[in-house]
Amino acid sequence: MESTESVRHRIVENLGQVRSKIAEAAARAGREAEEITLVAVTKAVTVVETNILIDSGVTDLGENRVQLGLNKISELSGVDVSWHMIGHLQRNKVRKVLEKFNIIHSVDTVRLLEEIDKQAAEIDVVKTIFLQVNTSGEESKYGTTGDEITGLARAAVKARHVDFQGLMTMAPYTTEPEAARPYFRELAIIRDRLENELGVPLPRLSMGMTGDFEVAIEEGATHVRIGTALFK
Ligand SMILES: *Cc1c(COP(=O)(O)O)cnc(C)c1O
Repeated sequence: MESTESVRHRIVENLGQVRSKIAEAAARAGREAEEITLVAVTKAVTVVETNILIDSGVTDLGENRVQLGLNKISELSGVDVSWHMIGHLQRNKVRKVLEKFNIIHSVDTVRLLEEIDKQAAEIDVVKTIFLQVNTSGEESKYGTTGDEITGLARAAVKARHVDFQGLMTMAPYTTEPEAARPYFRELAIIRDRLENELGVPLPRLSMGMTGDFEVAIEEGATHVRIGTALFK
């Protein structure tokens, strides 16, 4: 088995590389690296590996499965980080997510939004949310479509117990990062349109994973969700 020291060394090195690539992509786009939040996706790793990242200064962690995420959050209780729910969310799990996660990236239906608003009111919180948009139209992907997004966004603006901050998308899987660019550009265009139509600022864009985060930053990502590049 790999020793803890060697695991630490590997993760710290990976983190340094990811941070440099974020900074370089930001510079290419004339942006500040500080505008971009690295959400370390810990779904495939243990609490030990997660802790190494936290010790190295990572403050935002993402999980895509409610129960596995809750387990990790409880094992790391007392640690001061923000937890991001980035995966598909069922309405019957909303209460637990509201109690334990800080941000939800994956709100994709009016029914889910209404459940979040109602439950958040009951426990007296206002939860930061992003709306997930299926920019690629792939059936395997969750997310609202370009047609439905306006209605969902209107509902999100009205909901009093959510703080609607922006949009999230996943590009189709590819080994060619440039292939993801049109989907990220599309998300930014939808965001601009919604800001105009609804008259609210939507400053955040959650887009970019291990294979395509540099392109996403060039297209305006404020949150990149990265797993594999940190733990490989
Ligand atoms: C797993 C996952 C990621 C991270 O993917 P990597 O390719 O490992 O960086 C990002 N976003 C979502 C929604 C995920 O489920």
